[in-house]
Amino acid sequence: MGKLIKEQEEKGRLHIDTPLMGESLVGKDLLRKTEADEYFRMQPDVNVLKIGGQSIMDRGAKALLPILDELIRAKDEHKLILMTGGGTRARHVYNIGVDLGMPTGVLSKLGDKVSWQNAEMLSVLLAKHGGVKIGHGDHLEQLTMYCQLGYLPITYGIPPYGFFEHPAELGSIPPHRTDSGAFLLAENIGAKSLIYLKDEKGLYENDPKKAKDIDALKYFDRIHVDELIAMDLDDLIVERPVLTFLKNAKCLKEFQIIDALRHPEHISAALNGEHVGTIIYK
Ligand code: ADP
Ligand code: MG
Repeated sequence: MGKLIKEQEEKGRLHIDTPLMGESLVGKDLLRKTEADEYFRMQPDVNVLKIGGQSIMDRGAKALLPILDELIRAKDEHKLILMTGGGTRARHVYNIGVDLGMPTGVLSKLGDKVSWQNAEMLSVLLAKHGGVKIGHGDHLEQLTMYCQLGYLPITYGIPPYGFFEHPAELGSIPPHRTDSGAFLLAENIGAKSLIYLKDEKGLYENDPKKAKDIDALKYFDRIHVDELIAMDLDDLIVERPVLTFLKNAKCLKEFQIIDALRHPEHISAALNGEHVGTIIYK
């Protein structure tokens, strides 16, 4: 099909004949034909950094301030957008909602405000360094402009599902939270990179916080997303839907998870393309 739109001029009137006309938009053959050789990337120089809610922000000043110092330095060399996680306060409201038997979409609406609060907090802390809180609307086209002018844009990581959140495979906790939001935004703006700032050096075969001996746990410094999906690990350091997103991604080829808590300097290293945490790739 190549070019999807064919225009016809007839008797001075424009007739639009579209190959998608009369299609269900479900047929596999047709969908395959809509695959582009190369997808348009709106913000190819912008790096998306998600600052963990539970893993970083809930730990307060001691964890956060050294990270902010790094980010303030990094923003002069790299174009950045910061996205915020939720964390413990979101978990608390989910817990009350679960106790009341609330469906996933309601839980999603209850939890999404926390990531907004964290974005608000970051934008206050970074205000004098050019920190500016933006929404998910018109501002995303303006990211390069913000960065070129020396601003440091900050937005909430939660995607706008709310009542439209998908049913979870297991239980009722909304499956698409802020790791998912950060991925989807990075993918759709055609970002340069996606980096998750967390409190562990990356992916292990299980939660290192629950392990008796962390040295006995297998660590993955680099893993193909298909292999990781096939392993079907019991617990993960990123939300599970992110793996399927990467598998199907058109622009993003990988992301990195770093320990920004113990090593704030790894932020600059990762921005410079160094491998300092776990890289999950396709
Ligand atoms: P964030 O606040 O950044 O969203 P989370 O607390 O939700 O971070 O997720 C990160 C945590 O996931 C880590 O601190 C770790 O304890 C836990 N975790 C669970 N499974 C794994 C795993 N397989 N490898 C590494 N960490 C894991
Ligand atoms: Mg999380």
